Amino acid sequence: MIQWSKTNDALGTVNRGEPAESGLCTLCRADCQGRCETFLSSMAGRKMLYPKDFGMTTAGSKNTTHIGVSYNSVRINGGNYGCVGLPEGVKASVDSCVFPNVDIETEFGGEYKTKSTLPFLTGALGSTMIAAKYWDSLSIGSALVGFPIVIGENVVGVDPNSVIENGKVKSSPELDRRIEGYLRYYDGKGAIIVQMNVEDTSNGVAEYVINKFGDKVVLELKWGQGAKCIGGEIQVDSLERAMFLKERGYIVDPDPTKPEVQESFKNGSIKSFARHSRLGYSDLSTAEQVREQFMSAVDTYRSLGYKRITLKTGSYGMEGLAMAIKLATDAKLDLLTIDGSGGGTGMSPWNMMESWGVPSILLHAKAYEYASILAAKGQKVVDLAFAGGLAREDHIFKALALGAPYVKMVCMGRGLMVPAFLGSNIEGVLNPLRKSEVNGNWDKLPQSVAQFGKNAEEIFIGYYDVQKKVGSNEMKNIPYGAIALWTLADKLAAGLQQLMAGARKFSLSELSREDLYVGNRETEKETGIPFVTDVKDEVAKRILTS
Ligand code: SF4
Repeated sequence: MIQWSKTNDALGTVNRGEPAESGLCTLCRADCQGRCETFLSSMAGRKMLYPKDFGMTTAGSKNTTHIGVSYNSVRINGGNYGCVGLPEGVKASVDSCVFPNVDIETEFGGEYKTKSTLPFLTGALGSTMIAAKYWDSLSIGSALVGFPIVIGENVVGVDPNSVIENGKVKSSPELDRRIEGYLRYYDGKGAIIVQMNVEDTSNGVAEYVINKFGDKVVLELKWGQGAKCIGGEIQVDSLERAMFLKERGYIVDPDPTKPEVQESFKNGSIKSFARHSRLGYSDLSTAEQVREQFMSAVDTYRSLGYKRITLKTGSYGMEGLAMAIKLATDAKLDLLTIDGSGGGTGMSPWNMMESWGVPSILLHAKAYEYASILAAKGQKVVDLAFAGGLAREDHIFKALALGAPYVKMVCMGRGLMVPAFLGSNIEGVLNPLRKSEVNGNWDKLPQSVAQFGKNAEEIFIGYYDVQKKVGSNEMKNIPYGAIALWTLADKLAAGLQQLMAGARKFSLSELSREDLYVGNRETEKETGIPFVTDVKDEVAKRILTS
């Protein structure tokens, strides 16, 4: 399958490792020297929408993407006439119906809307080292572009400098840094979302955040994530840190308080410890009990002052999916993110990622069906975000259309982290004094970067757009990872606009399942999206026989 193959001659891309459904390698490294599509797009931006070497080449799709049931078996249904979704008063014409005029700004939420310049948000970036190290690039980049970012679970609990008294957080410099980093460049579009898991809830993180930052922050309740079914994990490689986390109440494996474990660590056979979270609702045995506890928690958070509350659920089976949609709808939440199996930004167990839960497209197809059941009963269904193995502009289009009209956002984890790694590595080379501050991994620019230029202005096609936004004096405070994220976002935006223009849809609210068809019968059966040559076949025949 071309989209899953390691090399793409047309784009000039090569994956370092084996590509997953998203097109990213199954293992994406922060020190990678390239050059997958996302890596190159973080420098070359929208130029990466096109085959390489214009004027010297022709290119053709292998057209072998629709094997098995996945997002890659879904195709986009273009039209040869018409145009809908232009702003009121703008007449459809060959001049107005051009792809740069496609409006991809969106909003989601119940009573209080959250605006976003693009229909995507980051996955939850929590207590993992990789999220902490590249936070500045990710938060500043997403704030500048104007899309939401999610601070994942356990940031307070693993922050060695946080003060927790009588089980409640009094201060957390790391959580403050994360929130303040985004708010510094936030200008009304996007949002900073803070996730709450079992430990965060008992540590009083919600109370801390609302008291310190007010309702600028969105609260996210967490049921799970696509990569795993047992809560978040991180790895630490010092005995002191393992003991610290154990004292903070985490499950640490192996148990660092055991003398034999300490002995093994000192002798080198144990080199690291895994910190785990706890399972939610463990003391409940019925869906009704979950409902009661969930509704009461939402009431409590609203009474604290939160105006916007979201829920993230993982790839649980159909009962868990239905519960998430129904409870989030009944509680009038602002967004429900439904994360299919697949990727994680932390250290989710590998075979768990490979084998647990419902794969994204199956989960998302059922989410649409269940949301429609609620809508048919007259309920205003909670706005949805789909996540799980989505990284390119065609993925964004397909997920939005598959779940239309309920899906307002696409949540992307690993894909949006690539520019943060890449930009930091470039900055570490070009500005060695900042190498350790930005966590750069390189000593010199690899050819995959040097081909674009020798300084940031030449390397990042989005450099001057960022400069225009913040002013040239402020550029010294913008990490290169943020410029790379801006550049990638611009490519995704332009790609999405092009696909939407081809479908003759000029605003996101016009997207529908009719904008898709599928390349094999099995995907048709599982998604309810018709097979490619069945769509409008009757209409076609009427044309021929008229
Ligand atoms: S940046 Fe990540 S996904 Fe891309 S080639 Fe490198 S390791 Fe693979």
